[in-house]
Amino acid sequence: MPIYEYEHVGPACSRGAVFEERRSLADPPLERCPQCGAPVVKRISRSFVRAPKTNAELRDLGFTKLVRRDDGVYENVTARDGESRVMRRGDPASLPDIGRIVSD
Ligand SMILES: [Zn+2]
Repeated sequence: MPIYEYEHVGPACSRGAVFEERRSLADPPLERCPQCGAPVVKRISRSFVRAPKTNAELRDLGFTKLVRRDDGVYENVTARDGESRVMRRGDPASLPDIGRIVSD
């Protein structure tokens, strides 16, 4: 089921001014906060507006993009500080440092 963002029309409750709610596509949009019962409106999620287009946007979203440059050689076009720009098959030191990228 998709996750939708809702925003309190008035003061926020313990769920925050904006909160996420998992809803079936068949369900009507929420009109009231399930926590406090106050009126809420559905927000347009940024992810539905458009897909990331640039390598910098992909990197900021936590993606790593590899572009094949030669047999077994890939360029990490989303390389972060300290990461190798070139990745070679069989060279673990050239792999992206996933443990550093993923923090949660
Ligand atoms: Zn509420």
